[in-house]
Amino acid sequence: MDFKELDLSQELLSAVEELGFTEMTEIQQKSIPLILEGKDVVGRSNTGTGKTAAFGLPAVQSISEAGGKSAQVLILCPTRELAMQAYEEIRKFAKYKRSVKACAVYGGASMERQILQLKRGANIIIGTPGRVMDHLRRRTLKTDELRMIILDEADEMLNMGFREDIESILSEIPQERQTILFSATMPPEIMALTEKYQRDPVVVKIKSSQKTVESVAQYSFEVAMGRKTDALKLLIAAYSPSSAMVFCNTKKMVDELTEELVKAGFRAAGLHGDMKQAQRTQVMNSFKAKNTAILVATDVAARGIDVSGVDAVFNYDIPQDNEYYIHRIGRTGRAGREGAAYTLVTGRRQLYELKDIARYTKAEIQELPLPQKAEILAMKKKAFAEEIAGMQEEPSSAAYDILDQLEKQGVSPREAAARLISGRISAEINSLPEFEIPRPIRKGRRDGASTVKLDLNIGRSKRIAPNFILGALADATGMSGKDFGKIDIFDEHTTVEVPESESAYILDVSNPMKINGHPVTVKLWTGPSPKDRPQKSWGRSGKPDRKRSAYGSRSRREVYSDYTRSRKKRPKNKH
Ligand code: ADP
Ligand code: MG
Repeated sequence: MDFKELDLSQELLSAVEELGFTEMTEIQQKSIPLILEGKDVVGRSNTGTGKTAAFGLPAVQSISEAGGKSAQVLILCPTRELAMQAYEEIRKFAKYKRSVKACAVYGGASMERQILQLKRGANIIIGTPGRVMDHLRRRTLKTDELRMIILDEADEMLNMGFREDIESILSEIPQERQTILFSATMPPEIMALTEKYQRDPVVVKIKSSQKTVESVAQYSFEVAMGRKTDALKLLIAAYSPSSAMVFCNTKKMVDELTEELVKAGFRAAGLHGDMKQAQRTQVMNSFKAKNTAILVATDVAARGIDVSGVDAVFNYDIPQDNEYYIHRIGRTGRAGREGAAYTLVTGRRQLYELKDIARYTKAEIQELPLPQKAEILAMKKKAFAEEIAGMQEEPSSAAYDILDQLEKQGVSPREAAARLISGRISAEINSLPEFEIPRPIRKGRRDGASTVKLDLNIGRSKRIAPNFILGALADATGMSGKDFGKIDIFDEHTTVEVPESESAYILDVSNPMKINGHPVTVKLWTGPSPKDRPQKSWGRSGKPDRKRSAYGSRSRREVYSDYTRSRKKRPKNKH
């Protein structure tokens, strides 16, 4: 079905045409007519199926001149990346509709600028629940004219602990409105929201779509900051590809990584644009002849290279362009062979970049833990047995002489062979980099992960509650409530336990930040200062107890109470 068959204004149809959309996707075909009719809709479909247009086009169409520059449509997204993305797309749809003024509001960005934009007037507001709530509280966002609310990726928003904010928003805005909800999954919590806040919703479900590069199995590994090189060595040792390509984003990285790999004993060579042509040709020929097992390259240098028999592609850096990802992984899995692509991810930002790539390329990328030494040992044993069984050459008479000699000294041939094999295996295994098994902070997920504490210069004197801290951090970082550990609130500051691997990222994106209107700086916690007077509510164990009265409403309290599990021997309501 073509967009032209829809009851959309010419302004919108021109914009859609300019974007190169002709055929509608399935979710668009099924939901746009319903939304245009004014129905409440629950849409379920995978990422990359065009949901932004499915709600964005009717949203833009619905903006009336009469409503002026007051907020008429509110779109909630789980993270600022997704809010920014939806905002960009909405602006493209509204290119020819002058009356539409869109505004994006999310955490980690200037509050003042957002307030100014809202004051100037905006009729489509796209934002994260925390920041939207903030603007509602300050009355910088007014909802008198609001006639449509859209919850994008609703399941993800609930996962991130935004239920309370979402429910407050839904109950604060006018009852006479259209409520649209999109979600990739339909757990009972979503159905409960639907029942409570939607009117006779029509459910639209779409089955998953097919993948782009089908012959390549795609995996990703989360790696701690600064450990990508070690992780790569581990993966190459584990999978022992006879021919592999490793992609980096810069020439400098290609040089550094190649050097590291060669030092570690791998047959690796680098390829990038700064190398002389003769040198590049030599590297390429050696790689094609399988003398070089590992080619480390930039996207540009590897362009147009056609080598058959590449077993694996490693994305050391996340590709800077979605198309690069397709090109990179397309180097393996050629001519009907199975290939594998492995992407190394450090920190949330990269995780989102990769999710974005997966969405655009319709790829299914499976997250795996780094292989452990025991698994690598098992793979090595199998590979080694196969190698020995497959040996063609006759052993030399010298070898038999040595075995005879050993037998006279009481060392059997079996013992002699075992000594040789174990020598080689242990050399390979012992040279593998050490990795702590990454685990989530919370019980079941990250039990025992190494954590650090961050220090926020806001505390009880500013009437701050754990849910404010958690909401602000989740909003600024795009991480979920589950990713944060223990929160201790003092008079003038608060400490929050976070996974060490994420701390640099969190510090990067959460500075500066505002909580409840107060500017807050986030630093690494270096221990107590003499100013930290013990609180009245300190328990006997000497640890601060949190005031129950300071808790927010139910959902956040549940999230929060989870963090106290490590101390659950103490009665919770001890005052
Ligand atoms: P989702 O929200 O379902 O993950 P998006 O709305 O982000 O998906 O859309 C994914 C990509 O598909 C975007 O680049 C978007 O511009 C594009 N797209 C959406 N609808 C169409 C269409 N009908 N034809 C072609 N491309 C489309
Ligand atoms: Mg989307």
